[in-house]
Amino acid sequence: MNALLSVRGLVKRHHTSSGTVHAVDGVDFEIAPGEVLGLVGESGCGKSTLGRALNGLDPAQAGSITFGGAELVGLGRRAWRPHRREMQMVFQDPFGSLNPRSTVGTILQDPLRVHGVGTRAERRATAAALLERVGLRAADVDRYPHEFSGGQRQRISIARAIALRPKLVICDEAVSALDVSIQAQIVNLLRSLQREYGLSYLFISHDLAVVGYLSDRIAVMYLGRIVEIGTKASLLAGPRHPYTRVLFSALPGRGGGKAQRQSLTGEPPSPLNPPAGCRFHPRCPLAVERCRTEVPAMRELADGHAAACHLAD
Ligand code: SF4
Ligand code: MG
Repeated sequence: MNALLSVRGLVKRHHTSSGTVHAVDGVDFEIAPGEVLGLVGESGCGKSTLGRALNGLDPAQAGSITFGGAELVGLGRRAWRPHRREMQMVFQDPFGSLNPRSTVGTILQDPLRVHGVGTRAERRATAAALLERVGLRAADVDRYPHEFSGGQRQRISIARAIALRPKLVICDEAVSALDVSIQAQIVNLLRSLQREYGLSYLFISHDLAVVGYLSDRIAVMYLGRIVEIGTKASLLAGPRHPYTRVLFSALPGRGGGKAQRQSLTGEPPSPLNPPAGCRFHPRCPLAVERCRTEVPAMRELADGHAAACHLAD
């Protein structure tokens, strides 16, 4: 793969009073130009931490992030800036991420100003054009975030994210806070922008239906590690990791013919003291003795489809 983004052995730990949280613990994946990679997993599995580490908001401690040919791990704040122009984020809460005291015009012009793009008049025109592109009105530049609905605010966040024509947009639960009918509109907007600009997305979500709709490939994360990755078709047709199977059994029409919804047993996972061996073993219906001690390596099972499970084949 001629990757736009290549992540190798990425590690992000938080030190807390109760111990070390292994939030992201040796993650590898790639995203090609123009590709959408969905990232799924239960809340607390490290998806958001991974997104923030990629974008330098919460830098990783070890491993490698190669983006557009440059190594990002270890860069200071200032050195990261030119890369962030190419890698933007859209968050779950559009209200929290939009400054309530700034007009929408200012919010959209800010990234352009920071990166020295255009004259004042050009930036104002760009802001108006961006608003129209995401389905709002040019005249909305003079309004404030609180004057918009949740869906409209998310349109503004998306307009801000594409203002600098990035190559990659990391969407972290970007539609999760919205009503279902609004979700579909925003997902369709994201899809049309992706096609128009040839964008890559890392689409982080716990909502498999939305991920399945948008993604070319899907990665499944469990307790700080990717346990399965592959094309959407390959993963949906034949998930190989027991965790993925449980997760996907919740999708309507899935679950091996009987369409039985499986649920997870055992303690909810804690990244504070992750289990030895396979991290899924305390909850895995197939666990055998070696799962308690031996970490399963990621193995390719079919073209581009890999899983980390001793019994995957
Ligand atoms: Fe289950 Fe063992 Fe596979 Fe882990 S390695 S998912 S515990 S069978
Ligand atoms: Mg999250």
